[in-house]
Amino acid sequence: MHINMNNKNMTNPFQNGMAQLDKVIKIKNFNEEFITKLRQPDRDIRISIPVKMDDGSLQIFEGYRVEYNNALGPYKGGIRYHKDTEINEVKALAFWMTLKCAVAGIPMGGGKGGVTVDPKELSKNELEMLSRGWVQKLAEVLGPKKDVPAPDLNTTPEIMAWMADEYAKITGDKTGATFTGKPLDKGGSAGRGRATGLGGFYVFDSLREQIGLPKKCKVVVQGFGNVGVNAAQSFIENGHKVVAISDSKGGVYNADGLDMKKLIEYKKKNGALSDFRGGKNLTNEKLLETECDLLIPAAFENVINETNANKIRAKAILELANGPITPEADEILFKKGIPVVPDILANSGGVTVSYFEWEQNLKNEHWTEKEIFDKLLPMMNDAAQKTFKNAKEYSTDLRRGAFILALLRIGEKMVTDENHDKK
Ligand code: NAD
Repeated sequence: MHINMNNKNMTNPFQNGMAQLDKVIKIKNFNEEFITKLRQPDRDIRISIPVKMDDGSLQIFEGYRVEYNNALGPYKGGIRYHKDTEINEVKALAFWMTLKCAVAGIPMGGGKGGVTVDPKELSKNELEMLSRGWVQKLAEVLGPKKDVPAPDLNTTPEIMAWMADEYAKITGDKTGATFTGKPLDKGGSAGRGRATGLGGFYVFDSLREQIGLPKKCKVVVQGFGNVGVNAAQSFIENGHKVVAISDSKGGVYNADGLDMKKLIEYKKKNGALSDFRGGKNLTNEKLLETECDLLIPAAFENVINETNANKIRAKAILELANGPITPEADEILFKKGIPVVPDILANSGGVTVSYFEWEQNLKNEHWTEKEIFDKLLPMMNDAAQKTFKNAKEYSTDLRRGAFILALLRIGEKMVTDENHDKK
């Protein structure tokens, strides 16, 4: 995922986050000092990472770690490698992580990291040196009880394994709990791959009747990566139909439902979804405007904006990507009566299973996939229902409902801690 700063609908992503916060405090009073504190991260750290390139030259990369808020627990959030990654993007994502962990009810705060780099231009050796360099510069602020990074865009389990190894070399910490999203044989958790898509299904299932959707839904998914594919499979396994799905090059449509197994094989062989025999081709633009019960943006941000929000014909939207709907589009959809299940709730299954990984590492335990999902389900239900209750109580949308849930949890902890410090 990458925040497209060139999109004319997009301001600075951090300003978008603050605009969302402003909308919430208009409908509910919170302690003013708490909100003022929440407008800035605890700290944002910028680092230079020197890397000896394969041709012998030295290149310096710019890296970041934003530690936004740790009222509820250690800072938690992924590290992004992208050529356009910059501090405002990382700050915005760290702010949303703070809220997401609070909505999910896990004892973690919010953080995010990144490096401005196009990883496709690096050799494997250079990528490893860069990743180890990120840890060398930041080791003193990281730690299982301090700050726990994870993968994000273009960072993989293998990169997490290099980072965890570098951290262990520098600090002697052998728990492995400083990085989540590691490979299974290096302390990773069962179920992490499916967690975001399946967690999204659990959230949907909990809210389905309340948001007026039928028992058997026609679902449209944008994105054919980890989240999109796992979400599509979870919906099909539970009796719903996925009538359209796309990757970056375009999508396919079949009113009777797509065969995901065949589609995955087809994509593996052909590298694209187009011309799949079990469906008709359609563009990403048309896919978003397809009539359906549920639309799931699971690719990247700002895809639903002022230019197309009025054309959406879904009965509801489940945001599995981070930030797929701009604040302007949000207002349009709200007025049209299309419920949006917000990202900080809908895709929080991923960070919840990351938290399970951290806990297993600290206790030196290994939980089965069944144990993981049995723990995940009630947590997603609880978060969904508390969000819905807030939205109803304040006659507002589910995004503001989720923000209220998060702000109450973080605010209560911050105020209690402050009073405790004064004693
Ligand atoms: P991924 O890289 O595995 O997949 C992204 C998919 O989006 C790919 O199929 C790609 O082809 C598609 N895509 C790219 N450009 C597109 C375009 N223009 N139109 C349509 N599709 C396009 O990424 P992912 O891990 O599945 O993440 C998807 C989204 O979910 C991101 O916003 C990410 O931040 C968010 N998210 C992921 C997780 C997780 O656990 N992986 C957790 C929370 C949120």
